[in-house]
Amino acid sequence: MLTPEEADVWQLEDRLPAEVVALRDRVRAYIDQALRPHLPSWWEAGHLPAFVISDLADLQAFGGEAGTLSRSAGLWQGVLMRELERADSGLRSLVSVHAHLAMEAIARYGTADQIAEWLAPMRRGERLGCFALTDVQSGSDPAAMQTTCRWTGAEWRISGQKRWVTNGTRAAIGVVWAREEPDGPIRGFLLPTDHPGLRREPIGFKGSLRLSDSAVWHLDLRLDEGWRLPGAQGLGAALACLNQARYGIAWGVVGAAMDCVAEAKAYVTQRSAFGRALAATQLVQEAWVGCVARLGLMQLTAFRLAELRDAQALHPLQISLAKRDNVRMALWVARKARELMGAEGISWRHGPMRHLANLETVDTYEGTYAVHTLAIGRQLLGSNAF
Ligand SMILES: Cc1cc2nc3c(=O)[nH]c(=O)nc-3n(C[C@H](O)[C@H](O)[C@H](O)COP(=O)(O)OP(=O)(O)OC[C@H]3O[C@@H](n4cnc5c(N)ncnc54)[C@H](O)[C@@H]3O)c2cc1C
Repeated sequence: MLTPEEADVWQLEDRLPAEVVALRDRVRAYIDQALRPHLPSWWEAGHLPAFVISDLADLQAFGGEAGTLSRSAGLWQGVLMRELERADSGLRSLVSVHAHLAMEAIARYGTADQIAEWLAPMRRGERLGCFALTDVQSGSDPAAMQTTCRWTGAEWRISGQKRWVTNGTRAAIGVVWAREEPDGPIRGFLLPTDHPGLRREPIGFKGSLRLSDSAVWHLDLRLDEGWRLPGAQGLGAALACLNQARYGIAWGVVGAAMDCVAEAKAYVTQRSAFGRALAATQLVQEAWVGCVARLGLMQLTAFRLAELRDAQALHPLQISLAKRDNVRMALWVARKARELMGAEGISWRHGPMRHLANLETVDTYEGTYAVHTLAIGRQLLGSNAF
């Protein structure tokens, strides 16, 4: 297998502070011992056992005990996401949606009472969260959402359909976005999942992110004012949370690529064809070194993002660019690693095919490649091409 030092061609790990190194080693050991042997069969079954959620909480994957999300910042959060996605994007998605979307929205936009009631049990993994922005009718263009909320003078009436809600059948609490009728802003609400008028339907037949729970939410319900997140007003409020999650994706996919590079190395060094190891052929070296080179570029980008974030100088455009391009490079690496492993490469028993399938979703959610391209183009060229 590829050693951690070989995967780190730009010697970036040297820059990790001791507490992040300790986190990396703890998460890596947990994943390699407790999860990795089971990933192929869980993926095949399309199910992640519930104990993983409490294990992740024990690893402080949902934030530390300090009562803030500060430990999810910068390098700490990035390295955590990378190590989780070395196993599977579904694992990283669970944490991204729970911690960086749902908990983040409550921390940013909730009242003191909402924060006090929800964040501590969510940090302990006792109550899982989700984030329902995408409508059945609109994904890339959330401003066109048809899920509505209306204030009757006594309560909110919410109706519509949300699709692709990650953690959607397991969650205890959802952050739901709806447009106020007749002409108000998009608003965010907390919705406990046992609330009357919410019907949840699991999405099956997925060829990607099979460890992740995805659901359709049918909403036809009444909510008291106490469930509204008062600061969650306007689409910008939802998008601010997405920036946290996209940061995690830019880091996470580095892990998927690391896993692919390592498995491809193990295969080409052990397998022979035409009287010599595959690793001793020029085309194989060209392909594998191409993977290592891209992995290095992805890591450089991720570390720079962390530096900017910790200096509080990170711009959404930088996150968009890093999400867009790190995912595409990870896809390139996964596809090349799959190819280098021949027929064996198509098996879920190995990482590359599973990562390749997962990364197709990662390329699509939290803003597709096209949407990030157009957002960056609009900003840098000054013309709206959406
Ligand atoms: C497994 C999974 C989990 C998800 N989890 C969540 C979640 O937890 N919460 C949530 O709210 N959402 C979630 N999503 C939804 C995701 O964010 C949307 O799928 C995504 O925003 C794209 O929307 P869409 O699927 O409706 O694609 P569409 O909007 O139908 O777009 C289809 C294609 O058209 C392209 N396109 C759109 N507009 C343009 C344009 N102007 N120019 C050029 N091309 C364009 C897009 O890039 C895309 O390739 C999840 C999706 C998946 C697959």
